[in-house]
Amino acid sequence: MDAATLATALDKARSFAATQHRLLIGGRWLEAQSGRTFDSYNPATREKLATVAAADEADADLAVRAARAALDGPLATQKPSDRAKLLWRLADLVEAHADELAVLETLDNGKPLSESRNFDIPHAIEVIRYNAGWCTKLSGETIALSGPGNWHAYTIREPVGVVAQIVPWNSPLAMAATKIAPALAAGCAVILKPAEQTPLTALRLAHLALEAGLPEGAFNLLTGIGEEAGAALTEHPGVDKVTFTGSTEVGRAIIRAAAGNFKRLTLELGGKTPVIVLPDADLDKAAMGAARSIFTNAGQICNAGSRLYAHAKIFDGLVERVAEYADGITLGSGLDPATRMGPVVSQEQQQRIQGYVESGLEQGAKRITKPRAIDQKGYFVQPTVLTDTTASMRVVREEIFGPVLCAMRFDESELTQIAAQANDSDYGLGAVVWTNDLSAAHHLVRKLKAGTVRVNGGGLDPALPFGGFKQSGWGRENGRAGIEAYTEIKSVAMAF
Ligand code: ADP
Repeated sequence: MDAATLATALDKARSFAATQHRLLIGGRWLEAQSGRTFDSYNPATREKLATVAAADEADADLAVRAARAALDGPLATQKPSDRAKLLWRLADLVEAHADELAVLETLDNGKPLSESRNFDIPHAIEVIRYNAGWCTKLSGETIALSGPGNWHAYTIREPVGVVAQIVPWNSPLAMAATKIAPALAAGCAVILKPAEQTPLTALRLAHLALEAGLPEGAFNLLTGIGEEAGAALTEHPGVDKVTFTGSTEVGRAIIRAAAGNFKRLTLELGGKTPVIVLPDADLDKAAMGAARSIFTNAGQICNAGSRLYAHAKIFDGLVERVAEYADGITLGSGLDPATRMGPVVSQEQQQRIQGYVESGLEQGAKRITKPRAIDQKGYFVQPTVLTDTTASMRVVREEIFGPVLCAMRFDESELTQIAAQANDSDYGLGAVVWTNDLSAAHHLVRKLKAGTVRVNGGGLDPALPFGGFKQSGWGRENGRAGIEAYTEIKSVAMAF
């Protein structure tokens, strides 16, 4: 973004942030019934950015009623092609406001503009367009029956109903788009609850959804605190499905809250992605890939490659390169074009990450990245590489959600044992393999217990299912599986 574009976008983003932010319920902007608000801060400066309505149970109830009214009203008769047009219009509007949205994301979350403008916002646009294409392609099937009797059978896919969608703060707009687009494409009515740390791009998105002409009540936005607004939605008997991205701990609370009326659940939870580097790998690419995997977005990515397993033959050279990369990362405000890593989102996260590094050092890990002076004003954390880490340490077992890499060496060339080390985790979101040996790659792909396995690169795509094995979650987002998760299958049997 050149200086003039940045200045204009900054102006727009700041004036939007300064407006009075309310809840979008049934197509109208309403204050929280309690009148309560909370503030959102710029993590690079600790300055207050915005004051936002704090929804609670009463607002959640209103939003659920508005969503139900939309389902029984305009959505019931809406043609798939009309839904597709609305989503295309929304994607066009997001694209038209991409610079402003990128700056807003950077102000609220802290990530470098190069990430928000080149990844988050384009990804949000792609996801909306991809799902717009599904509106007209979702259908049931005619079933060839196996048993006796003269009857005909087919299935219909119906929208699951009112969907509460709770998103985290690490990629706020991309996450919001990943949630709302398939749900709206399937004909559901949604209530989006952004994270309290980063509500601004979701608010801007809600304005754009109104401008795009989405039917009243099809898209509702509740800003608020997780334990209040989020919990109220997950407990509400009028909500048919909850989709959630966030911590495994909150995921567990949501499973309990959803039990009352057996809400359908899609949960994208924590991760502790292993990155395996075999001795034959292209080491330049593997080092760069391993570094980017853990240091992008300051490691605040559920699929960040936080455990590195490298063969003893190449371990020292590889880890040295990753540490050099880490030491060379320029930390600073996300608005500064020189910045490669912004602050983490909050003081709580900053302290949590630093606590993990200290616990690793206390348990015998060695820090090989150089100590450096850190700007004390923003919530900055030094990119860190730890060696001498072992399978039982907290830094290796628990999700840190920060720029901290634990590097471990293996000696054996038995792939099953390497996979077993990588699989020694409660999580199973992702795994990465670096090798040029096709047979070893196929072998590891089969052995690794992870929802996504990447070999020598590859990323996130709206068409590729994403989700976790084990405690990394339930279900998949993206792709056909992602949109089908917003439908119920109705089987129809009819005698001749
Ligand atoms: P993190 O720990 O990374 O902040 P969380 O899992 O706490 O992530 O938060 C992700 C999202 O879940 C946020 O929108 C947050 O407000 C929401 N949330 C937090 N606690 C609850 C809860 N008990 N019920 C529902 N949503 C919650």
